Amino acid sequence: MTKRISIAIDGPAAAGKSTIAKMVAKNLNYTYIDTGAMYRCVAYYAWLNHIDFHDEQGVSALLKDIDIQMFPDGTIQLNHEDVTSSIRENEVSMGASIVSQYEVVRTFLVDKQRQMAQGGGVILDGRDIGTVVLKDAELKIYQVASIECRALRRHKENLQRGLESNLEDIQKEIALRDEQDMNRLISPLKKADDAIEIDTSDMTLEEVVAKVMQLVEQRV
Ligand code: C5P
Repeated sequence: MTKRISIAIDGPAAAGKSTIAKMVAKNLNYTYIDTGAMYRCVAYYAWLNHIDFHDEQGVSALLKDIDIQMFPDGTIQLNHEDVTSSIRENEVSMGASIVSQYEVVRTFLVDKQRQMAQGGGVILDGRDIGTVVLKDAELKIYQVASIECRALRRHKENLQRGLESNLEDIQKEIALRDEQDMNRLISPLKKADDAIEIDTSDMTLEEVVAKVMQLVEQRV
């Protein structure tokens, strides 16, 4: 039987990590875990409860009431409510980048992520998967693309979904989140020493998936 490995995909905002991770997971029949969605759930819950994202104590006090469930079809439930689309709002993206700086929030979610990843056959995407969550992952990818390219892809995605979208605003939001995520004290976004960097700026989705599949095959 082929070995079922753990795959970590990290990288800056809107680099297409989740799209690639989902496609690779489908090819391999692996479980895909979107860790960014979990930080988004915490931010969204704070917003629902009128807690300022910058209020570390207030946000921390909410954790005991947060139950996140992720389903194979991509649906995300927060306390049994479907929040799949709500957590994609711009305000929630920024909130996630703020609440993810708090140690208690990270410990709470990293514990959950490790439990979900037990046994292998998983692909996780985020910012600290290769450096913290799954330090022993057999395959670590650091997926990047130019800021212009990432903003344009996100802009097109929004338009396709029928959402209002402004390219300049998206670029600013992505740049600010990257800056926060790379410079925070706990688990900042960085490439793990043993990660393989893939710059997807000039690659098609299929090319990126093929590259990742080739790297998986070398490891199973
Ligand atoms: O990946 P996504 O853009 O949905 O993540 C939202 C935010 O959650 C990121 O900007 C980052 O601050 C935080 N995050 C994190 N660690 C992860 C995944 C996401 O800090 N593993």
